[in-house]
Amino acid sequence: MNSSTGSNGGTVNGGISFWFAQEGLPDPREPLPGDRTADVCVVGGGYTGLWTAYYLKKAAPFLDIVVLEARFCGYGASGRNGGWLYNGIAGRDRYAALHGHEAAVRLQHAMNATVTEVLDVLDAEKIEADQHRGGVLEVALSPAQLARLKEFHAAEHAFGEADREIYGARETAERIRVAGAVGSSWTPHGARLHPVKLVHGLRAAVEALGVTIHESTPVTEIRPKHAVTPYGTVRAPYVLRCTEGFTASLAGQRRTWLPMNSSMIATEPLTDAQWDSIGWNGLETLGDMAHAYMYAQRTADGRIALGGRGVPYRYGSRTDNDGRTQPQTIEALREVLVRFFPQLAGVRVDHAWSGVLGVPRDWCATATLDRSTGIGWAGGYVGSGVATTNLAARTLRDLIRQDSGQGGATELTTLPWVGHKVRKWEPEPFRWLGVQTMYAAFRGADHRESTTHRATTDPVARWANRIAGR
Ligand SMILES: Cc1cc2nc3c(=O)[nH]c(=O)nc-3n(C[C@H](O)[C@H](O)[C@H](O)COP(=O)(O)OP(=O)(O)OC[C@H]3O[C@@H](n4cnc5c(N)ncnc54)[C@H](O)[C@@H]3O)c2cc1C
Repeated sequence: MNSSTGSNGGTVNGGISFWFAQEGLPDPREPLPGDRTADVCVVGGGYTGLWTAYYLKKAAPFLDIVVLEARFCGYGASGRNGGWLYNGIAGRDRYAALHGHEAAVRLQHAMNATVTEVLDVLDAEKIEADQHRGGVLEVALSPAQLARLKEFHAAEHAFGEADREIYGARETAERIRVAGAVGSSWTPHGARLHPVKLVHGLRAAVEALGVTIHESTPVTEIRPKHAVTPYGTVRAPYVLRCTEGFTASLAGQRRTWLPMNSSMIATEPLTDAQWDSIGWNGLETLGDMAHAYMYAQRTADGRIALGGRGVPYRYGSRTDNDGRTQPQTIEALREVLVRFFPQLAGVRVDHAWSGVLGVPRDWCATATLDRSTGIGWAGGYVGSGVATTNLAARTLRDLIRQDSGQGGATELTTLPWVGHKVRKWEPEPFRWLGVQTMYAAFRGADHRESTTHRATTDPVARWANRIAGR
């Protein structure tokens, strides 16, 4: 697929992602041909940038909107993720502490509605992205995980998820037969989708509305009313930074959001007999309650795509090499697959890849418009961005319409994540040391929890969470 694709033992390594290998890269769009003006300049062609362009143009068709994308639309996490469209949002509990429980409940309700909103738009725009609303099933594999699952379940109820259900071992196995699962929690606010089919569909919808997309156009600096590239500068009253895990590469943003890696594998298609032994007929997205958690989906063509943490962070906020993944990470993910489904021990892993997601110092996502400069941004989703990007986009739309006198405050502009500010990450080497220590602590805690069978969270993990500011 490209120079950084490797193949080892039948496993394609890198090549952006399995999803791109399946769907192909999009037809490239021309780079920015020179200086120009626009009403809104969107930097980054992932879900945040594309959804924002979509909603702004829908609301105000007269706007001249240009999207500048460093590589091609979907090159980042949006073209590499696990395809969990679900209602989780990073930072909700902290927002409850900062703004009160009711404000956080409003945020949670907005997220629940966002899952439906995305599926509705896909229907309306006739975007076929293998979407299936089977909810999210999170399983516990040890007494400590079960204790955390029950706490988590109760907390989600308290934030207004009355329709969430909790299951024992037998009911869990009726849905998905995960080896050693002792219980699970299921929410209907989730759907499985194909990440790249969503990117391709969105890109086409946005262009059909009249938005201009320039690819192969890296923005080197964002200044008030300016997005600077090697090919020219776009001058616009509003410049929106939608670069999430890549934000550190922009001038002045090195310590804003830490680029955290997440890695995935996709198996070969399973046989009918293998699926019969697993169940999973509801096509729920599947996760666990480990500290270094896993996430998975049953793909439309009958594979398991499964992800988790590999090398969590690269020194100096470096990002990645087109998704190439370390062999030990691929092996670790394969071990998770076989621990969950021992009968798949001989199954081939067809593809492995990685991507980066953006982590703010306090692990709280935000959507913000600085009205004094016209610079907006959204991100810090910490791995829960497939749905959150859509809420962020509608929020940025409302903030811009409010600022430009085309609308007033809305329910979205008053959500507690709007305008949230947090301090920057520590300089190196403290940043690197901190993340390595945290993930070593999580791995150790997961191991102890699965071997000691104590029904409480390992104290080292609690400590690591506190130190990390989670
Ligand atoms: C492996 C993995 C699995 C995940 N699984 C899930 C999941 O199942 N569910 C979930 O909710 N979330 C998941 N996430 C997180 C989710 O994918 C992201 O939160 C979401 O895609 C972020 O979208 P975005 O548009 O903000 O950023 P991105 O998709 O990263 O897009 C940013 C874009 O900006 C471009 N760019 C960067 N710098 C510049 C620049 N200087 N100039 C111009 N363009 C630039 C990049 O090329 C990229 O296309 C996962 C993430 C990863 C990495």
